[in-house]
Amino acid sequence: MSMLGAVLLAADQLQLTQVPDPSPGPGEVLVRVGATTICGTDLRILRGEKTAGVELPVILGHESAGHVAAVGPGVSGYDVGAPVAVAPVIPCRRCWECRHDLENLCPNARILGYAVDGGLAEYLLVPAEAVAAGCLFLAGRDLPSEQLALAEPLACVVNGQRWSPVEVDDVVLVMGAGPIGLFHLQLASLAGARAVIVSEPSAARRAQAERLGAAVALDPATQDLAEVVRELSQGVGVDASVVCVGVPELVNQAVELSRSGGRVNVFAGLAGAGWAKVAASRIHYRQVRLTGSANSRRSDYATALRLIESGRVETASMLTHRFPLSAVHEAVRAVGTGEAIKVAVLP
Ligand SMILES: [Zn+2]
Ligand SMILES: [Zn+2]
Repeated sequence: MSMLGAVLLAADQLQLTQVPDPSPGPGEVLVRVGATTICGTDLRILRGEKTAGVELPVILGHESAGHVAAVGPGVSGYDVGAPVAVAPVIPCRRCWECRHDLENLCPNARILGYAVDGGLAEYLLVPAEAVAAGCLFLAGRDLPSEQLALAEPLACVVNGQRWSPVEVDDVVLVMGAGPIGLFHLQLASLAGARAVIVSEPSAARRAQAERLGAAVALDPATQDLAEVVRELSQGVGVDASVVCVGVPELVNQAVELSRSGGRVNVFAGLAGAGWAKVAASRIHYRQVRLTGSANSRRSDYATALRLIESGRVETASMLTHRFPLSAVHEAVRAVGTGEAIKVAVLP
């Protein structure tokens, strides 16, 4: 027995190949993948730009949902056929971070699609350590797997909003309207923002931001972001901003546009050392709170799943491109061009 899987052998060598059909051993659960969505991190792993926590060869894909196909000895609570979604970060649960509610930053974490075979395959074997840690979530509703799979990126946004919370009546700036920016926009609206300003060069993505409730979606190449911020905040500056594009220079722009006592979250992953020149005096004299956020905790994943299941966060319109597993290379290309918002691979 064998199954189709997209195995990353080395940088830029993603091979669609038959691999042995996994069968669940003690403590393990086999999931028939319904959908795996692809994100920029997958691209960075694929190109060899992101190597931390990556162990090759590995089946890529860390945003997956599907149905329980088989359950290994000693596992209870998962019926065959039940809809499930998989939180990909397996925290060690012993390190300082894990013991201090920062498991998303666990230095020993093993991540599905990085170091453990992920979801770009017909089946995903959830390791015993992940099942034991509660990383396999039973979905409350049998929604399309492609929507449940988005619990992963949404969970990261939920974590980000904890570190840089949006409060009622805030004016919020979201830089970048990819899937992450659009999730930040939706969560900011849910939290009661007065206005969310979205800065995004792609017209298609700006249109999507407007549909999802942005007060203004502007093109930073041709429009004056500072002017829009002045107008919507009555000259005060933004209460909270989120940098959802991996461009270090944007951090300073967010600091400059912040109100006194405002919050800036460096959300997007940055290539290399990610250096930026930031006006430290502005941070000081305006008491700007500068924070970062990376990845998510299991509890953020649970929150994200509830937000999707209840429809409080809209996911259907964000899924713009679908490919069968046999066209995984095309799927990856679609993410790279930026024309898609979210790309799903349906095996
Ligand atoms: Zn991702
Ligand atoms: Zn840990």
